[in-house]
Amino acid sequence: MDWTAITTRMGRRIAAAMGLCGVVPLVLFAIAAAREADTAGAAAAASRLSGESELYADLIRARLGVAETVVETATANAASDNSSALKRQVGNSRVFKSVVLVNSDGVLAGGETALRPSPTQLLALATGQTVLMAVSVDGQLTGVFMAHHVSVAGGTRLAYFELAPDWLWKEIDDLPGTALAVIETDGRILHGGGTLAPDTRRMFAEHILSSGEGGLPDTLTWQDGGKAWRGVLKQVPLTSERITTIPWGVVVYSGESSFFARSARIWALLPWGLIALTLCVFLADRYISARFAPACAALQRGLPALQRRRFEALPLTGSDEPRELLEAFNRCAVSLQDQFRALETLGEIDKLLLGSAELEQVLEGILSRVQTVTRCHCVGITLRDADAPGRGRVYLAAIGLSGLPVSRVELDDDMLTTLASVSEGLTVARCEDMRHSFLRPLKDTGAEFFWVWPVNVADRVEAILAVGYRDPPAAEPLLARSGSQFAERLAVALSKSAHDERLYRQAHFDPLTSLPNRILFRDRLSQEISTATAGLSRGALLYIDLDHFKRVNDSVGHGAGDQLLGIVAQRLRSCVKEGDTVARLGGDEFTVILRNVADPDSAKTIGERIIESLQLPVNIGGRDHFVCASIGITLFPDDGSNIDDVMRNADMAMYRAKDLGRGCLMFFDPRMNSRSVVPTETGLQRALRRREFSLFYQPQFSIGNGALAGVEALLRWQTAREGMRHPGEFVPAAEKSGLIVDIGGWVLEAACTQLASWRDQNIVPPRLALNVSAQQLKQEEFPGEVRRALDKYGLPAAWLELELTESVFADEAAGAALERLAQLGVHLALDDFGTGYSSLSYLRQHPIGTVKIDRTFLEDVPQNPASATLVETIVVMAHALGKRVIAEGIETAEQLEFLRERSCDIAQGFYLSRPLSAEVVTELLQARAQSGSRAGTIREAG
Ligand code: C2E
Ligand code: MG
Ligand code: MG
Repeated sequence: MDWTAITTRMGRRIAAAMGLCGVVPLVLFAIAAAREADTAGAAAAASRLSGESELYADLIRARLGVAETVVETATANAASDNSSALKRQVGNSRVFKSVVLVNSDGVLAGGETALRPSPTQLLALATGQTVLMAVSVDGQLTGVFMAHHVSVAGGTRLAYFELAPDWLWKEIDDLPGTALAVIETDGRILHGGGTLAPDTRRMFAEHILSSGEGGLPDTLTWQDGGKAWRGVLKQVPLTSERITTIPWGVVVYSGESSFFARSARIWALLPWGLIALTLCVFLADRYISARFAPACAALQRGLPALQRRRFEALPLTGSDEPRELLEAFNRCAVSLQDQFRALETLGEIDKLLLGSAELEQVLEGILSRVQTVTRCHCVGITLRDADAPGRGRVYLAAIGLSGLPVSRVELDDDMLTTLASVSEGLTVARCEDMRHSFLRPLKDTGAEFFWVWPVNVADRVEAILAVGYRDPPAAEPLLARSGSQFAERLAVALSKSAHDERLYRQAHFDPLTSLPNRILFRDRLSQEISTATAGLSRGALLYIDLDHFKRVNDSVGHGAGDQLLGIVAQRLRSCVKEGDTVARLGGDEFTVILRNVADPDSAKTIGERIIESLQLPVNIGGRDHFVCASIGITLFPDDGSNIDDVMRNADMAMYRAKDLGRGCLMFFDPRMNSRSVVPTETGLQRALRRREFSLFYQPQFSIGNGALAGVEALLRWQTAREGMRHPGEFVPAAEKSGLIVDIGGWVLEAACTQLASWRDQNIVPPRLALNVSAQQLKQEEFPGEVRRALDKYGLPAAWLELELTESVFADEAAGAALERLAQLGVHLALDDFGTGYSSLSYLRQHPIGTVKIDRTFLEDVPQNPASATLVETIVVMAHALGKRVIAEGIETAEQLEFLRERSCDIAQGFYLSRPLSAEVVTELLQARAQSGSRAGTIREAG
């Protein structure tokens, strides 16, 4: 049994509304009917009372007429007879009970006066009329009499005929529901009347008189005994020429019944009516609820489910609008599901795009998802070939097709032009072989109708997205939109892929030779080492350095040098197997990673092959160039199992190869580690290239006030193998090879960069002293180089001081160079004064402002009087020439004190501060700028 009619709110409301609609008219109808019944009942009762009263009045009048006739007859017949005959006659009739004869004056024999006629009656009797009278004794009615003169025995007597009540009132009785009273005008009750109150009787008597004999029945209402009564009074029409009497009235009356009593039957029916109504309402409610409630309930469940993104169709129940509502809901759910799916799918693809997914993954993602969103039979993505734009590859996904088959197609230019301008896509119903070549693979899966979208990257169709259907697809805007959106994602993926590819190439390949660069090389090497250490194989690393490459660069220019490197790269590649890696680390350094090296000899063979192939002349611009290579070989994991060790080993082996002479190879030997390595030209060149040099700065303080007077830039070499190396270890080699010129150039550049950086940090830079080699000064262009370096950073020349050693004066041209430098405004200092062919005349001749006393003179000052005298003399002489004096190598307080006493200007040494890195000296300068601290604090910092 379905109770939704009662259990649902809707059911209850329908029931209530229908109930109200039924009950109100029913009750109103009942009231109206009751009122009608009441009126009709009242009228009927009145009419009955009226009828009865008239009937009885007539009956009484008729009987009295009969009685009078009997009286007339008897009295006439008695004329000749005596009273006994009269009595007999009366005795024979049922009309009279008895007859009494009295004197004509009416007095009864014996003197009783009860029946004495009134004068009026006597007058009437005298005229031969019959007088009707009721007689009471002590207020009690004793009888109704008819009096008439009678002649008996010659005399006139008055005969009183007593009417027999059984006859007179026969059948004049209370009828069911009514009462009856016969009453005289003096209020005396003649018959019936029960216990009518005296007031009531009086009221009746008055109405008898007022209504008149022939009048209409008089309807009366009154209260008696606490109850309402209604009655109809009719005067008995007695008065005639034959009878004289006071008027009589007949009142038929009944208790007044209430409205409800009169409409009781209607009210009795009402509950049944209500029961019937309830039943009808229930049935109707059930009917309506059964049609509408299930649909509403389904919607009630379905909508929250929709909110939770469950797009299930609802069962179609009910009828009419609710059913239509369900149908609309289901349509809406399908459409929402499609839209959500499309959005989700696009979101997933976006995730792929934003993540590090490869193009192939994005393609796969789009292919598999487009199908679900567009409900198509198959999807194809055609990618144009990068190298042959007229061709393309179609990646296909179709129902019942596994994997992602790829087919090659020739693309129609005209079609591509058409497609470029229809980003919203177009439909193809008739597939032409040439024009729609990219749809052929889709057609082969059974599709007949197609939607096609261009994938435009920078206004060029880079790919085509196509979906195929077996039946014509509905022209849904969602489909067109989804397709465009997928195409857009694909465009992003393609441009991202191209961009990624570019970035990857930029980051991992050397642009000149297209060989893997240092980053990719390290990556591959670490992979190979891992594989090798896992016990799977052995590998070899070949470190190749070109000999005399610099010569090519210097002699025929960098363009030719670049060409040569390209050719070298090709030759190297041709010497190794597929899977081996040839990389360029920079400059003329190359590496080769060999995989699966069975024994050292096979690595050696390849090394020799490389040397041979590089020894062949390289023709550039019609000129043959000769380069050769030095190769260091190390095996892994035999010689090392960590990338830095392997690199260092190969590097070291290559150095040894170079030491042995050019164009040979050398295997790494652990003993190489123990020997100190003399820096070679190649090593220094490489250090320069690899940016292994740095500058340290040693502060110089004014002895008089402790103020920072300047800093001296000192070169440091951070080597991979031996850590930090000091100039004493490599400057001589650099001088020897001539590389000191390049290194000096780097120092000048680095020093100017540092000055600019301090200036930019709002640090007032101290005077910066640079050591300049004699070879640098010899360079014609050196002063110009200094000028350019200063101009490059917009630095004042006075911020620089160039330290030269006395050796510069060996060259006669030095004077001119010094002059040009001085004109620039840079300061000049004579370093290591006293160690060389020191000559005061140089100081006099050249624009040198500062003299640096070599630290060897200060070593035993002040203990050694000779040294002390020498230092003192230098200070005095320099001052005499107007030069500043800097004392180097101050290691003790005594030395400082000694210099102070000798009025030396500036002190530099470990006692005051060691050379400091750029960061530390920057912090120091900042701190000094804030506090203006003195020399003592520097010593602590150093
Ligand atoms: P220098 O120009 O006479 O530099 C002073 C050297 O004395 C520095 O050695 C410095 O560290 C060291 N020194 C300073 N105070 C003390 C001290 O109290 N006690 C001791 N024992 N030594 C002290 P460094 O840096 O090893 O430089 C050595 C030489 O290398 C320099 O002598 C300079 O002739 C040359 N040099 C340094 N940097 C360059 C440069 O950039 N270019 C050129 N051409 N030569 C440079
Ligand atoms: Mg110096
Ligand atoms: Mg010096």
